[in-house]
Amino acid sequence: MPIRREEFYFGVKVSPVARRALQGGFEPAYLKLHRSGALAERARIADQHIEDCDLCARYCRVNRKRTLAGVVCRTGELAVVNSSGPHHGEEDCLRGWRGSGAIFFSWCNMRCVFCQNWEISWKGHGEEIAARELADTLLNLQAMGCHNINLVNPSHVVAQVLAALEIAARNGLRLPLVYNSGGYDSPEALALLDGVIDIYMPDMKYGDADLAREYSHTPDYVRVNRAAVREMHRQVGDLKLTADNIARRGLLVRHLVLPGGIAGTEAVLRFLAEEISRETYLNIMDQYRPTYRAGEYPELDRMITHDEYRQALDLARKYGLKRIDRRCSESWVVRWP
Ligand code: SF4
Repeated sequence: MPIRREEFYFGVKVSPVARRALQGGFEPAYLKLHRSGALAERARIADQHIEDCDLCARYCRVNRKRTLAGVVCRTGELAVVNSSGPHHGEEDCLRGWRGSGAIFFSWCNMRCVFCQNWEISWKGHGEEIAARELADTLLNLQAMGCHNINLVNPSHVVAQVLAALEIAARNGLRLPLVYNSGGYDSPEALALLDGVIDIYMPDMKYGDADLAREYSHTPDYVRVNRAAVREMHRQVGDLKLTADNIARRGLLVRHLVLPGGIAGTEAVLRFLAEEISRETYLNIMDQYRPTYRAGEYPELDRMITHDEYRQALDLARKYGLKRIDRRCSESWVVRWP
């Protein structure tokens, strides 16, 4: 008799009761929608949005099933995936000891001149993948033991993700879903994701609209990004961790410090503290490198200094934000189950 996929947990055959016990009683948000049939309905509605696309804040209003003309994200009916696998470079609460199950989607709805993944985001390196193959990718990451499914750069493939998720949930997917976006998400997309996503991990790239226009070609980024973060927090609340510090549900914000304060760090942190929550889990990132077209902008053509990073941490303290991700490679030890 064939073995059903949902009887496996990290590659080991277990009963459904044992699996729930191993997961500490955790159930990802999308399973409730799956049981009621609402997940399939969301996937169906999202597929219609592709025909007059408003699935990110670009509002291209193009039928992506017919043409790529006018499609900023250069992605048609099928998602393009660059790579997938357990990722050990994410925040401690995502990577844990078995890794975060990352899927890197190619192309992007933003146009950051300093993009660190420009070969994927600007050049679209990757392969088109149908919903069933994407569902298999999700299930394979679960079978490898990853702590979560980490959708990297998913804003322009919300419809394709929902279609795959419905198939994967039917076939036993039980991991929390991380929406790891640039934070340029439309209310329409976020409405489709309400009750689907467990962990929202948006960037807050800028605190100044003029700089967002200049470096990412997104003049309305600050307004759109703040509205998106507000909605994400409304849906999932502050980030909750298990006793062994694994993220289960909530909001995790990333902010990349740019040279010379270009990212508007103070405005971003003040917004989070005053309008979202002082309990916001925050990764203030120090890994900026001048890549892709950053060399064309002298102010972007250097790494940040130690003092600049220290000032960003001081600002977080000033605004009462204390849940700062502290990544310490010395303490990271790979453990396999
Ligand atoms: S996802 Fe965004 S960038 Fe892509 S076609 Fe739709 S509105 Fe345009």
